[in-house]
Amino acid sequence: MFRSIYLDNHATTPLDPRVREVLFAAFDAVGNAGSADHAFGWAAARRLASARELIADLIGAIDDEIYFTSGATEANNIAIIGGALNAPIERRRLLIGAAEHKSVIEAAESMAAHGFTVEWLKPNKDGIVDPKALADRLASDVALVSIMAINNEIGTVAPVETYGAIVSAFGSVFHVDATQAATALEIDCRSWRADTISLSGHKIYGPGGIGALFVADDARWRPKSLTFGGGQEGALRPGTVPTSLCEGFGEAARLIAIEGNQERIRISLLRDRLQSGLLALHPDTIVTGENAPRHPGSLHVRLRNVNASELLLRLQPHIAASTASACSSGFIGPSHVLTAIGMTEEEANQCIRFSLGRFSSEDDIYVALKMLGEALANIDFEPATDAF
Ligand code: PMP
Repeated sequence: MFRSIYLDNHATTPLDPRVREVLFAAFDAVGNAGSADHAFGWAAARRLASARELIADLIGAIDDEIYFTSGATEANNIAIIGGALNAPIERRRLLIGAAEHKSVIEAAESMAAHGFTVEWLKPNKDGIVDPKALADRLASDVALVSIMAINNEIGTVAPVETYGAIVSAFGSVFHVDATQAATALEIDCRSWRADTISLSGHKIYGPGGIGALFVADDARWRPKSLTFGGGQEGALRPGTVPTSLCEGFGEAARLIAIEGNQERIRISLLRDRLQSGLLALHPDTIVTGENAPRHPGSLHVRLRNVNASELLLRLQPHIAASTASACSSGFIGPSHVLTAIGMTEEEANQCIRFSLGRFSSEDDIYVALKMLGEALANIDFEPATDAF
């Protein structure tokens, strides 16, 4: 029987049906939250305010610290470019994790044209930037540091609180891309000591096209707005706010705040089952980031001597997983994350990311392992050049 198993939750999460209900009701409501002269506008403003509060609650913030954006890409751009542009003139260095999402990396690179120097913080083989290496690079000329909470490709969890304490001693702005973090852990923006944090709706079982940037009320300095318009979102991100998407995003955040802890335990047990099953099928499997804490749904592996693209192709349309993050798939060449953690191109070509989520079931894992076993039994193994 045809069966399709979705194990690519780091690329995007399915919409939770409970969020869909909220969204559909919200789509039918008329009113611009900016219309101050009538009851339709007031009602929209109230709905927007409660959505904002739910996002704030998810990360331990207060509502006026949340700015809605179109997603984490835009939030990262505002944080990095806007944060650098408002830095005091004597701070012209940017310290950026080498395994960050492209929306951070390319935003930082664009600042070279504005007189900034970008320096890359190389992670270890588990994808973690050593706090000591960060401390060694910091000085009073650093404008901004950006290190993600959880890597979207290999799923490892960074010691963000430690970074935050180090960065704050140097007076630089600290940005955290937390796009993958809300499903993995309870975020406390205060203990992170982050000035800015990015979030995205479609990574937490909410709608796509909506995200948020947290800007701490006591941020060292605020990011400069990159767009101009009607002054919405404190003029940091002007444009009519899509109240319905915000409500869906808010509901998704509310569900995680309530159910997150239990859900994480259930998903990590399933992930562990997939991991041990895969190791049994192909003992020459190396789990990426095994020595670091990982996102509960994340399983990034290197199947020695197996061409990962070929394996995944054989599994279509039955198993959705990925050989690189969705944002850079289609790009030819090894993923910058895998290169940053020291893999060769040949090693990177043997890697697959499975990411489990809220709707992954025991049966999914059972069937996925069965199909993986059949595909591995029929695949031509590449010669083991790295065995020597
Ligand atoms: N940062 C990380 C860590 C991500 O995983 C993603 C999405 N792949 C983004 C940023 C971009 O998010 P969005 O799709 O909301 O623009």
